[in-house]
Amino acid sequence: MEHIHSIEELARWKSKERKKKLGFVPTMGALHDGHLSLVRLSQSKSDQTIVSIYVNPTQFNRTEDLAAYPNTLEADLGALEALGCDAVFLPNAQMLYPDGMKSRSFNFEGLDRYMEGAGRPGHFEGMATVVTRFFELIEPDFAIFGEKDFQQLSIIRQVIAKEEWPVEIVPAAISREADGLAMSSRNMRLLSHEREDAAQIFAVLSSAVTKLNPRETTPKAFEKRCAAALNAIPSIQVEYVSCCDAASLQQVKEFNPARPTRVFAAVQCGKVRLIDNLPLF
Ligand code: AMP
Repeated sequence: MEHIHSIEELARWKSKERKKKLGFVPTMGALHDGHLSLVRLSQSKSDQTIVSIYVNPTQFNRTEDLAAYPNTLEADLGALEALGCDAVFLPNAQMLYPDGMKSRSFNFEGLDRYMEGAGRPGHFEGMATVVTRFFELIEPDFAIFGEKDFQQLSIIRQVIAKEEWPVEIVPAAISREADGLAMSSRNMRLLSHEREDAAQIFAVLSSAVTKLNPRETTPKAFEKRCAAALNAIPSIQVEYVSCCDAASLQQVKEFNPARPTRVFAAVQCGKVRLIDNLPLF
């Protein structure tokens, strides 16, 4: 696996090694099996896969979150090598932000109105800035994004369509631990009792989804019930539970099983913020 540390090395790798179809998986490192499933999906669809590892400061709205972000670079490189990944791009801030550490501005046409957009101002601008910079430098044929960050996936699709980037966006299903907890780099920061409590997030949401009768309840009542059940778990404090249209990401006022709809949740578990989402219909 090629370790690429500069724009010059990247350009050289592309001109010498680039094969027909190049898949790209952007990550912030601290890789777990969820990330690796994206790499495997890319490998199944491409001739070559490049992964980036870069903790992007502009998408963190809390400095303590950025400072606490785990770094397991050696293990990450070992895991990618073992998978047979072709290249890993390890840029620094200067390469990605040559004009200074600031985000571009975007019009996400309302996709950022709720959920992570409401709770984390500047997060999606930061993310879209770095992802489009990666597209400019790497020029992949497609890029893989996890449904774990469903709003991010929707926003990237919108940016790609609006700015006419010649990159196909490929979604990847959420990878979960055996007890249902969505895999996340943040899970390693949970204390052992918090880790047990965190498994209840999926248990609560999936049981509520299974029991949902859309003719007998409103989204608001459903959200309230889920939030109360989540808040009853000792380490958990709910930030939001929202039922949103899967295309527009606008909160739904009534259920329509004919329209793809998802339930999204963000909670604080001890000191760690966790998100998850599931399809309703
Ligand atoms: P991150 O390193 O957290 O920025 O994540 C990099 C990519 O991996 C994003 O596209 C995430 O949506 C995806 N990802 C993270 N966790 C999971 C998971 N549990 N299942 C599927 N994809 C994931």
